[in-house]
Amino acid sequence: MQILDGKSTALAVREELKKAVEDRKSKGQKIPHLVAVLVGNDGGSLTYVGAKVKACKEIGFDSTLIHLSENISEKELLEQVEKLNKDSDVDGFIVQLPLPKHIDEKKITLAIDPKKDVDGFHPNNLGNMVLNLPCFLPATPAGMMELLRRYEVETAGKHCVVIGRSHIVGSPMSILMARNTSPGNATVTLAHSRTKNLKELTLQADIIVSAIGQPNFLTADMVKEGAVVLDVGITRVEDSSKKSGYKLLGDVDFEQVAPKCSFITPVPGGVGPMTIVSLMMNTLKAMELRGDNLSAN
Ligand code: NAD
Repeated sequence: MQILDGKSTALAVREELKKAVEDRKSKGQKIPHLVAVLVGNDGGSLTYVGAKVKACKEIGFDSTLIHLSENISEKELLEQVEKLNKDSDVDGFIVQLPLPKHIDEKKITLAIDPKKDVDGFHPNNLGNMVLNLPCFLPATPAGMMELLRRYEVETAGKHCVVIGRSHIVGSPMSILMARNTSPGNATVTLAHSRTKNLKELTLQADIIVSAIGQPNFLTADMVKEGAVVLDVGITRVEDSSKKSGYKLLGDVDFEQVAPKCSFITPVPGGVGPMTIVSLMMNTLKAMELRGDNLSAN
């Protein structure tokens, strides 16, 4: 069994990005600028956005956090998005989800310029992903593909079962794994809450991607010997022995499942760190697509 170590892989990617930034600086070229828009004070979102902004700073990107009130109107948020679309210094930006209930997330996603949509949630990017055309891939699936690539995990001709069909993880991951690319070329089954014979399916799987958010959902009796398991789930569970008061659990019963696997991602330290670096990779790409000759300002 080999751990797919997202933490160390993400560090390696960060070093590569750092070097790319230094190269650009030495040539007097613009450095990438990512903006994260956060609405309200949701604990999880604050942590995720904080980690993204910190990661940017560490690799030398410019990054800005725009923290808006929970009570901002949809119109005002749309105006903010438009401002960022037009700001030539901003290469890419994200609007952290979920948004407060009075704001239509779809409207906001559609308002983002696809060329700056480094989360890859705009339909233009998702459509291009399906067609295997240049686009920004959603960060979490892109991070998993990068992990598979760097560990040279064979995926062609394998049966991959993706559990969970969210627009940001499960569905795009199922598409990426089925595309005629490497990694990819897998035969994919997309399972979800209405799937009736899940265990039957997972027992046939060479690769399992679990993205549902239920701790210890995938148990050893659901996994065949030698499978590759990618655990996307992150659930906070109270734990008084931790300084934070909680621990993070994945969807996979790691202790029992890991011995059966050829490769497995831990939680934390698996898919999570790769998600963040994917966003950085998308931001660098966004800037490069806007023109390498942009000069520093
Ligand atoms: P979501 O919460 O939007 O959807 C959950 C999906 O799981 C649904 O498609 C549902 O059909 C499916 N599901 C629920 N119960 C099921 C069951 N019993 N059997 C089969 N399918 C079932 O999903 P999401 O936003 O993709 O998040 C999933 C998990 O991944 C969460 O724990 C989230 O915190 C985590 N996540 C982690 C990262 C990361 O970087 N590691 C990124 C995004 C999300």
